[in-house]
Amino acid sequence: MDLLLFGPPGAGKGTQAKFLIDLLRIPQISTGDMMRAERKSGSELGRQFDEYMSAGKLVPDSLVLDLILKRLTQEDAKNGAIFDGYPRTVAQAESLDALLEKLDRRIDRVVSLDVPLQDIVERVTGRRVCLDCGQTYHVRYSPPPQNGECVSCGGNKIVQRSDDTEEVVRKRYEEYKAKTEPVLAHYGAKGVVKGVEGVGSLEEITERIKEAIGVE
Ligand code: AMP
Repeated sequence: MDLLLFGPPGAGKGTQAKFLIDLLRIPQISTGDMMRAERKSGSELGRQFDEYMSAGKLVPDSLVLDLILKRLTQEDAKNGAIFDGYPRTVAQAESLDALLEKLDRRIDRVVSLDVPLQDIVERVTGRRVCLDCGQTYHVRYSPPPQNGECVSCGGNKIVQRSDDTEEVVRKRYEEYKAKTEPVLAHYGAKGVVKGVEGVGSLEEITERIKEAIGVE
């Protein structure tokens, strides 16, 4: 199955993707995670990503396509993938469709997580992340341990993402509204979109997603 988790920044796409990996036995493909890894490596490409990311702007489509091309042809993604934070423009959606078609695949389902802006700002500005393993926390709902050690990997670099400040998240939301939301109409026309309320407990939201994609 090729599943697209859709929604504004902070909608819970990454968190929900983690639950679905085991259930569906397909990998999560997060262009945001891939870009952060590239940035961390200190490469020239990573530096280019950072220019856009730290301003809350979308990275140009051509750079994103290179990343996806490499990732989709890896062995673990041959039976499908959970796309998280990609495609983010109609042009990206069109190029993904063309790529999948060559592999005799298509986006089977788009799950669109609906979360009001007010909740997004609260979620994103309170988010903390382990720089070593990517484990996420929230200062109110799942605070990082007092000793500063990550529960997943024991590392001690739990930080706020530089683009998780209120100013940048508002910019990211503007970009979402202007450039990403039209992707929904693109897939709506193909009849594969299901809307899911993205507010509630993690478990409740997972159950709604499972229902939307028709798995137990
Ligand atoms: P995310 O982790 O998905 O919230 O992405 C963080 C940032 O990475 C975004 O605000 C963009 O600057 C960049 N980014 C991630 N995925 C894409 C994409 N598919 N197209 C353009 N920019 C992206």
